[in-house]
Amino acid sequence: MAKRDYYEVLGVSKTATEEEIKKAYRKIALQNHPDTHPNDKDAEERFKEASEAYEVLSDPKKRSAYDQFGFSGMNDFQGGAAGNYSNVYRDFSDIFGGSGFSDFFSSFFGGGGRAQQRSGYGEPGASLRYDITIDFSEAVNGCRKEITFGHKVKCSSCGGTGGTGRKTCPTCHGSGRVTSGNGFFQMASTCRTCGGTGHIIENPCASCHGTGTETKTEKLMVTIPAGVDNGSRLTLRGKGDAGTNGGADGDLILFISVRPDKYFVREGSDVYLQIPVAVTQAALGASVLVPTVDGVNIKVDIPAGIQSGTMLRVKGKGIPSPRGNQRGDMYLRILVETPRRLSMKAKELMKELARELKETTSPTPMEFQE
Ligand SMILES: [Zn+2]
Ligand SMILES: [Zn+2]
Repeated sequence: MAKRDYYEVLGVSKTATEEEIKKAYRKIALQNHPDTHPNDKDAEERFKEASEAYEVLSDPKKRSAYDQFGFSGMNDFQGGAAGNYSNVYRDFSDIFGGSGFSDFFSSFFGGGGRAQQRSGYGEPGASLRYDITIDFSEAVNGCRKEITFGHKVKCSSCGGTGGTGRKTCPTCHGSGRVTSGNGFFQMASTCRTCGGTGHIIENPCASCHGTGTETKTEKLMVTIPAGVDNGSRLTLRGKGDAGTNGGADGDLILFISVRPDKYFVREGSDVYLQIPVAVTQAALGASVLVPTVDGVNIKVDIPAGIQSGTMLRVKGKGIPSPRGNQRGDMYLRILVETPRRLSMKAKELMKELARELKETTSPTPMEFQE
């Protein structure tokens, strides 16, 4: 089959910028992604063709050699294939950055980070998310909660082996990957015979169809430590999906939401509370009972002459730290309440008080000093 011109493959002009080339390749690569077209030979062909074109046109040296000499100009670059792959691979991180294809590319091209860590078999289980909402006081003081969740466990029929007659995959000889293509541009892709596990099972288990896992609903009593906050996460190791063939089990991760309290407002490990006091208490001083996050009332002395808006700190009555013995503080914001619905006698007393304090109750212009 005659090779198509690289520019034609990517659908760009000979004067295309690096950015245009990258964009064109990205589009073709995504449209023919082997993950979304697992058994589509044509898509795979288009993907390879585009990758080869991109590999050349994205490299200024190779591009200029190709522009001058065509495919024959590429001979100089043969033999450096292994190095070329890592270039291509590196480029993907910014082409596909964050779009979730990096795993695919690292296994597709080999030499990538995660693909190398994967042994022939042994798939780790997925980590699972579980959302839980607790009350403010439960977050402060800790609590125990029963949760019900579904996850994959080892198949009870085959004990997680997936069946009997396990053999090394004849297609990939246990590596889980196959390479194809010519000497110039080789492609490594996940072996289709074994799905990348490196082995096949001749007599798959009837109940799990060879996967080695089954879904089970479980109840679990979870201890939530005192001091967790809205947005805290709690990892329950090994309680996610079971790994297969010796792969590690995933985790179950609790995402904790805390219902706000009616009175307490939390900020980190400190807690804020508004304390209404009467004018007489503010003027004369008083001892008041205030609630704490522990549920115990404590006596707090309000000093005589306190002003509305003043903050009083009560040390060590805030939120406990989930790790260690430290606790935050409680801040009381004093709100001096003006008395309403005065009796005749109270009015008289107020007027007398005003006279005593030399305060005027008739309209007077306010004068503010600068
Ligand atoms: Zn089974
Ligand atoms: Zn295989």
